[in-house]
Amino acid sequence: MVTRIKHMAVAVADVDTAVSAYERRLGVTDPRRVEWEQGKSKEAHFAFGEVEIQLCESTDPDGRFAQHIARYGEGVQHICLEVEDIAGAIEHALADGATLKECRACQKVGAHPHSEGFVAFLEGQAVPGFEVEFMQVYREGERPADFATGV
Ligand SMILES: [Zn+2]
Repeated sequence: MVTRIKHMAVAVADVDTAVSAYERRLGVTDPRRVEWEQGKSKEAHFAFGEVEIQLCESTDPDGRFAQHIARYGEGVQHICLEVEDIAGAIEHALADGATLKECRACQKVGAHPHSEGFVAFLEGQAVPGFEVEFMQVYREGERPADFATGV
């Protein structure tokens, strides 16, 4: 049901400082810069092979990445798992007692459109290791005209 890691979102205190470390130490070049107003974040996106890394700095002290850093320090805030059928993936997780988490950017619970696909978040403790975002990537013609840009 999970087909691959779509992206890993890393909470960082300062996106420019973080990018510099990835450039100097891991040879990352020219990451895509994203300012996502709705998500209250400044981000830098690049890929290691098929997996996109998103370095995310909250622009608001109450933002989800700032909150993650306050609790745990800098690190992986969530991993986005690509699924073929998001409704089925959610149903499967909820059937075992997982719960959905509100998307902080959109104030929506459950599957809803983002820039690249329909997404849904599970509450933090659904599995040990990381917060789960499911994404059903848009097929041809599925992308709504008005969707949040960003992650
Ligand atoms: Zn959302």
